[in-house]
Amino acid sequence: MKLARCAHEGVVWWGAVDGEVVTLLAPDSQISIGSWTAPSLKAAVLHPAGTALLEDVALLAPVSAPSKIICVGLNYRDHAIESGMSIPEIPMIFAKFPSSLVGPGAAIVLPEDSNEIDWEVELAVVIGSPARHVSESDALDFVLGYTVAVDVSARDLQISDGQFVRAKSYDTFCPVGPWLVTADELGDARGLGIGLTVNQETLQDSRTSELVFGVKEIIAFCSRVATLNPGDLILTGTPNGTGFGFKPPRYLNPGDEVTAWVEGIGELTNPVAVR
Ligand code: ZN
Repeated sequence: MKLARCAHEGVVWWGAVDGEVVTLLAPDSQISIGSWTAPSLKAAVLHPAGTALLEDVALLAPVSAPSKIICVGLNYRDHAIESGMSIPEIPMIFAKFPSSLVGPGAAIVLPEDSNEIDWEVELAVVIGSPARHVSESDALDFVLGYTVAVDVSARDLQISDGQFVRAKSYDTFCPVGPWLVTADELGDARGLGIGLTVNQETLQDSRTSELVFGVKEIIAFCSRVATLNPGDLILTGTPNGTGFGFKPPRYLNPGDEVTAWVEGIGELTNPVAVR
């Protein structure tokens, strides 16, 4: 199921997207993301609150206010090579502030502090139930679904700061959407096409089979560090084709349009604006 959050006639809804129609399941204010399970989704679809045309709703980020956004660095073989780094032996995790989250169509706002704002398309895991010290074999039981994210990154600050928090956490630096696809449709999300265009020019084009650490390994690893809560996002890393890998490097400019996509999920498009 394509599970979306969307605004329709002044109300934020959970909706199931099928083609051009959105089945309105329940108001977002009445259902927390941790309430969605395979049985509760099935029941909600059988007794919907209404329907709307996809073109008549405003899609929002499919999670709101996650307790954390965890990212995995250098997790595609081709991107590690592009970065001149060795392939990690354990997942290299870092965080983005949850306040960096925005939805489909929202502007990526370029901060004044950086001249090198880069793109990273990522497969994002949406956690469905609390996970702590889970095994790799159980890890997928804690996944509600998958969505598309862009890990917007200020490369100059990432280097000058010596760590990633500021460079990755400006407001609007985590576009996510257009919806999540429930885990029953994608399994561990291996072998999916993944890519990104800027102004319709293909810059990233790879497959999730290039992941160094897969979804199960990442969840098991992260759940040893912290409890993963419903609605938490894990961005699983980016393939090659980021701007700093070009010679000369290429970065985002005001007026650009970024479209990130993952096969089986959909396309996430965000304009680029200046503050
Ligand atoms: Zn990233």
